[in-house]
Amino acid sequence: MVKNLPLFPTTVVGSWPRPPWLVRAFDDYGKKRGSKKKLTSHMDDAVKLALKDQEIAGIDIVSDGEQRRFSFLVVIAEKVAGFELMNIIDLARGRTHVLSTIEEMMLPKSVPQPIATGKIRRNRPIALDELKFARRHTDRRIKVPLPSPYMLAWQAWDYEYSRKVYPSPDDLAEDLVRVVRDEIIALRNAGASFIQLDDPTIQNPLNPEKYMKFLTMLLGHKPRPFKEELNWAVELINESVKGIGGVTLGLHVCRGNWPAPEEILPKGAYGPILPSLLEIKVNQLVLEFATPRAGPIDVFKDYPTDKQLGLGVIDVKNRDVETPEIVVSRVKRALKYFDPDQIFLNPDCGFASGRTWPVADRQTALRKLRSMVEAAKTLREAKS
Ligand SMILES: [Zn+2]
Repeated sequence: MVKNLPLFPTTVVGSWPRPPWLVRAFDDYGKKRGSKKKLTSHMDDAVKLALKDQEIAGIDIVSDGEQRRFSFLVVIAEKVAGFELMNIIDLARGRTHVLSTIEEMMLPKSVPQPIATGKIRRNRPIALDELKFARRHTDRRIKVPLPSPYMLAWQAWDYEYSRKVYPSPDDLAEDLVRVVRDEIIALRNAGASFIQLDDPTIQNPLNPEKYMKFLTMLLGHKPRPFKEELNWAVELINESVKGIGGVTLGLHVCRGNWPAPEEILPKGAYGPILPSLLEIKVNQLVLEFATPRAGPIDVFKDYPTDKQLGLGVIDVKNRDVETPEIVVSRVKRALKYFDPDQIFLNPDCGFASGRTWPVADRQTALRKLRSMVEAAKTLREAKS
């Protein structure tokens, strides 16, 4: 657990807008116009910049901004053996209605999908190098986000390419749990303060006609009935964190974060999935509440909990920068259901879940973090 933090600690969900020169360096490397050494040097610089931005803003628990990752999901295939990265448009071809759904949902195109085509093996760490580098460049506590095994079981099993090795998503999930669990332990042992499992997929049962339908069409899954689906999610995540102490463990749940208009993105209050989220044995739920798509925080009225709440107080997709007063008012709503020492302040999600689809520019993101930190100061002063 993270100790000796101020009241209302401030943190981020993970990703930070990548500088244009980093995006270019990745492109050049992909087109064999740049060396690995040059790309690594750009990634190192971008991480230092992301850390410095968060320090300047006054964030208590920082991340490396996920600068080295293509996305919060694809990182698994970048590091773990047994995956192939398949272009989502190529995968969609010949599969009924998938291409039209990608258009309708305005999903980022040319995105690689991490598909399990071989035996999944963590033959090297996933985020340990990220943590070690960040540790050398900041004195702040560090949060490391990882993809949740439940999200991966949905995203990485394909009926055409995975079945030879893993007859069903359940079979794949066993290995995913092991991989994620081993990484959590390695990160804990290396001094991570906060390890966060990202899982936008767990809210899909709220929106069966949106992203879940898309994944079903794309990858050939058979969704389970509502409660059974959630029980599966709880079981996989709990297996991956079982008995692990000495670090704050969080679960981040949002409704997707790509630059499509609000009316296209999934929405729905947490209410129906909240009992399941509370069964998950993490210290903190990191939830979006600034976007109206997440519904009101009053869903906690019927579910008092001892867990910490990573309260989303910044709408990452809204270009307007929240004033500290707005942030304070959002925290006050949460104080109806949580004690002050249960609440952490964070934006709803990362500012750039994927390298090529930031939802905010860096300057706007920085101003939003500053507002959040100002609000935390006001709230602390009111309590002292
Ligand atoms: Zn998110």
